[in-house]
Amino acid sequence: MLIGEETGELLSVGKALLCLVPEQAHRQYFDELFDIVTPDIETLADATDQASEQTSFFIKVSGSPATLRGQIMIPSPGYILFVGSILVTGANSLEELGVSLNVFSPFDLTPDIVILHKFRDLENRDLEARVKRLAHVSQAHEEMSEHANTDELTQIKNRRGFWSAGEKILKELEELNTSRLLIALLDLDGFKSVNDQYGHDTGDALLRTTAERIANVVGTSGLVGRLGGDEFVVLMILDEIQNKRARVQQLLNTINSPIEFKHNQISINASIGVAKIEPGDSLELGIHNADVAMYEGRLSNTGPISWFTEDLSQKIKAKNDLHKRLKVAIAERKIKPHFQPIIDISDSRLCSFEALARWHDDDLGDISPAVFIGLAEEANLLETLDQQILEQSLDQLAAWRAAGKAFSIHVNVSAPSLNHKLVDRVFKALGDRNLESQLLTLELTETTILENTETAKDVLEQLTANGVRLQLDDFGTGFSSLSHLRDFPVSGLKIDRSFVQDVHVEPKSQALLKSVASIASNLTLDIVAEGIECAEQMEYLRKVGCHFGQGFYIGKPLEADACENLFPQLNKRAA
Ligand code: C2E
Ligand code: CA
Ligand code: CA
Repeated sequence: MLIGEETGELLSVGKALLCLVPEQAHRQYFDELFDIVTPDIETLADATDQASEQTSFFIKVSGSPATLRGQIMIPSPGYILFVGSILVTGANSLEELGVSLNVFSPFDLTPDIVILHKFRDLENRDLEARVKRLAHVSQAHEEMSEHANTDELTQIKNRRGFWSAGEKILKELEELNTSRLLIALLDLDGFKSVNDQYGHDTGDALLRTTAERIANVVGTSGLVGRLGGDEFVVLMILDEIQNKRARVQQLLNTINSPIEFKHNQISINASIGVAKIEPGDSLELGIHNADVAMYEGRLSNTGPISWFTEDLSQKIKAKNDLHKRLKVAIAERKIKPHFQPIIDISDSRLCSFEALARWHDDDLGDISPAVFIGLAEEANLLETLDQQILEQSLDQLAAWRAAGKAFSIHVNVSAPSLNHKLVDRVFKALGDRNLESQLLTLELTETTILENTETAKDVLEQLTANGVRLQLDDFGTGFSSLSHLRDFPVSGLKIDRSFVQDVHVEPKSQALLKSVASIASNLTLDIVAEGIECAEQMEYLRKVGCHFGQGFYIGKPLEADACENLFPQLNKRAA
């Protein structure tokens, strides 16, 4: 707590000290920004003469680039107490001056600034009484800011409180070797279901107990806050002999032990992301790193505690770099389809090609679709990429058709593309190239359909009603639900590679394939087997009545030109 300090005309308390009293340059800035007391000085001076505790005025002083909004109170004659918030609308000039200020909404009820103004002409009042009053106001302010910084439910710091106290601690420790500082983010797994199952009372009790337990482990040499919901944050200051991993494990253990509430024993687990704070690191960076560690930990399923490491940091840098390159590659239409042949298994006739996206980066070489498709999805670029592959594939198909080849084409459709826009897009792309709809098969997985159940049915029906064909991709790996075959207008199944791999040796795969083939035949669906790598597999698939085949044994995905060299070879096999 900062005790008021007499500075010429101003007595300031709390943050006002930071805002108004520092170096001359800052003073000047604020003086220019807000004519703090003068707007109503006459009225106020009058008011102070008969001041009572109740006297107060609301003021709003606009200055560019900031607005000061708050309430003026006259706690006793001769003093003006201003409690208010500053809304900074153009923070640049503040930053230039190095003045740090939180940006709060003008409707924020917690004051940003408290100024006790003393009139010069009333200076010769009793000093002792003045100091008392000042102390009183200071205390009120402390209580007020304590309240604003505390999470009501758990009585630990809230986001704001953690932030300001944490920054203060880091500043104080800046001089020391701070490599023994850890920041940990804790997230309760399945908290929502506790709320749903036992009610909000129990949920609240769980949060309170968790906060208490964390605070006990951390003790006085650290800081604990609740960021909201079931998310907690801890700043741990370790001494030389404390083991970092053991301390974090201790945190986890304490949260994981069951809690008793209203005769229910509730167990909850936490996920923890931890980062070290190195000298000079900001609190923001520490929290960000801990967050990244937690996210990566969940993604890779590596257990409840995930540390931010140099490796992870490199991985993220590489990912960001790849992300930038991908954005450029898509903008410049550098991702091209390669084509993998699909043959009729009964006579080995070449019938179709599946278009598979290929990306060659000049520096990094070939990048697998397993990497860039996911990345494009994260970056919201997959719909654009799908469209580019569709258009380029149809360009190629049109060229082959013009050269007298009777192929059709398969194009993959991802979840982000499965919306109403797809219908127009597909028919426009076909129409622009004078291609019949029947020549296009769209491949979608069950997951793609399930992620879009609302629109999927409608979109797929519009597509198929006009002749486009649909195949369920990777069949056997997802839900493999028969109801999807009934409810969606699919014309075929693509049996996943994993079933084809051992079909010539593994009786279970054989049985599975036989039943799928028989269901497909009853429903008059085509079956394509993908991932055929040897003659034995092909022979077996022919025997159980698979219609079409695709795989390295028949041909790898190749550039269009290279595919053309393949035609005679494939036709020879057919003959
Ligand atoms: P997918 O649609 O199941 O494609 C088949 C994958 O199996 C392709 O991998 C293909 O190269 C590979 N493959 C084909 N025959 C064999 C074989 O005999 N043995 C083995 N081991 N593998 C074989 P690729 O090209 O790496 O594509 C992986 C996945 O990326 C695709 O799986 C698809 O889900 C996605 N993808 C590829 N291109 C596109 C695209 O243009 N759009 C969308 N949305 N996804 C695409
Ligand atoms: Ca596919
Ligand atoms: Ca597939």
